[in-house]
Amino acid sequence: MNADTQLYINGQWVDPVEGRTFATIDPSSEALIARVAAATAADVDLAVQAARQAFDEGPWPHLSGSARAAVLRRIAQGIRDRQQALAELEVRDNGKPLPEALWDVGDSAGCFDYYADLAEGLDDRQDQPVALADERFSSVVRKEPVGVAGAIIPWNFPLLMAAWKVAPALAAGCCMVLKPSELTPMTALELARIADAAGLPAGVLNVLPGLGQSAGAALAEHPGIDKLAFTGSVPTGSRIMQAAANDIKNISLELGGKSPFIIFADSDIESAVEWIMFGIFWNQGQVCSATSRVLVQRELYAPLLDRLRQEAEKVRIGNGMEEGVLLGPLVSKGQYDKVLTAIAGGLEEGARLVYGGERPTGFDQGFYLQPTLFADVPLHSAIWREEIFGPVVCVRPFDDEAEALRSANDSRFGLAAAVMSKDLVRAERVARKLRAGIVWINCSQPTFTEAPWGGYKQSGIGRELGEWGLNNYLEIKQITRYDSDQNWGWYLK
Ligand code: NAD
Repeated sequence: MNADTQLYINGQWVDPVEGRTFATIDPSSEALIARVAAATAADVDLAVQAARQAFDEGPWPHLSGSARAAVLRRIAQGIRDRQQALAELEVRDNGKPLPEALWDVGDSAGCFDYYADLAEGLDDRQDQPVALADERFSSVVRKEPVGVAGAIIPWNFPLLMAAWKVAPALAAGCCMVLKPSELTPMTALELARIADAAGLPAGVLNVLPGLGQSAGAALAEHPGIDKLAFTGSVPTGSRIMQAAANDIKNISLELGGKSPFIIFADSDIESAVEWIMFGIFWNQGQVCSATSRVLVQRELYAPLLDRLRQEAEKVRIGNGMEEGVLLGPLVSKGQYDKVLTAIAGGLEEGARLVYGGERPTGFDQGFYLQPTLFADVPLHSAIWREEIFGPVVCVRPFDDEAEALRSANDSRFGLAAAVMSKDLVRAERVARKLRAGIVWINCSQPTFTEAPWGGYKQSGIGRELGEWGLNNYLEIKQITRYDSDQNWGWYLK
């Protein structure tokens, strides 16, 4: 085997059983970063066994929440100590601009600190009494780790998506097998190194880069997995659900989106431009909650499109390591082709291209695309209805609130939505009527570790982050005691 990396199983760095590898490349130059050791079903089996043993026989699930919190805080510190190096690795593997990668790494550390606090809080919340109507009984509720968890994550926020799953799972006392995306496996391997150095017991976290159809599918199907947490596309989520149905695995799914942003005519135009630009162009638009459908009240429609066009023209495109770059390359050739196909489809279906849609001049290599702005996008068109997952924004006019809400909610997705208006009563009213798990008022995208994250409809099942993220990895147990000295009396009278 000619690999630059290994798998992390049971606290050891090991070669994959079948000796397979895959390439991970730098999307700005298409140059090889590393040949990565690829897990297959045999390695998944070993990792699940290690996690199972750590869960059934090891100390981790039985430690107090505060003891687990100490390890989580050391992981947070380990991430912080290496913030610059991790962010640079993320830029190389994913393509995102360095300031955004630095955000991600800082947020990942913050996520471990946050769940350390929640792990400590668990100690105080154990054995909560439940008031029963029958005084002969007393009952308490315990929260216990769900067992061995599998996590399958996407490539758009490689380290952060790992943190969103690993931190609450460890806080709850679970043991975990993590499979990063084959497009961006590098920082998950670094997370394993950091967790190891933080003193996480062997087998509690196992990290297995590998392909979706082999390592991912094997993890989803493995009978030793009690809980499967997945973030990715709807078709893969559907496959995971089918695999999980075989043995009734507990699943949580964070899937795609096609998030609307309703802008009323009383909005400040500069503020609208700023949040739309950020909402669709940060991370090259490869964001599940990206502001990809913008509905603008007719009076503001033409001036807003003009201002958006002016700002889109100014966006600096380039390698994410260069200062001032706002738009890096898309993550891969496959993603690049998918986005270009969506743009061609939009043109065929009659949307008006206001700006972009092409490879920017001066970029012969790398998966670079201009920020792209479509107007008058037909409601039935695929670019209006389907997730593009690239720097492409679709804009339409609307006349009144009812029409805006109808169009916004007319989607099979329901991850996020946003509304902008100076009339806060109206904004709040609209926010309540939007069918989405995350609704922003007068902004779009800011995400907080403390608040629940997840979608309605085909955007997923369950919520991550906040206390909801911890609950994903907890079972709830009642312990009920018969305190009376009287016979129960079913047959003894
Ligand atoms: P994807 O579904 O192609 O892959 C996600 C992960 O699943 C990868 O690790 C992949 O290897 C694995 N996988 C692929 N096939 C598999 C299979 N048959 N069995 C098991 N695992 C398999 O998605 P992607 O292209 O990596 O990510 C983009 C998608 O993720 C978008 O749809 C985006 O909206 C979604 N996403 C959602 C959120 C959220 O919080 N809701 C966050 C980020 C990304």
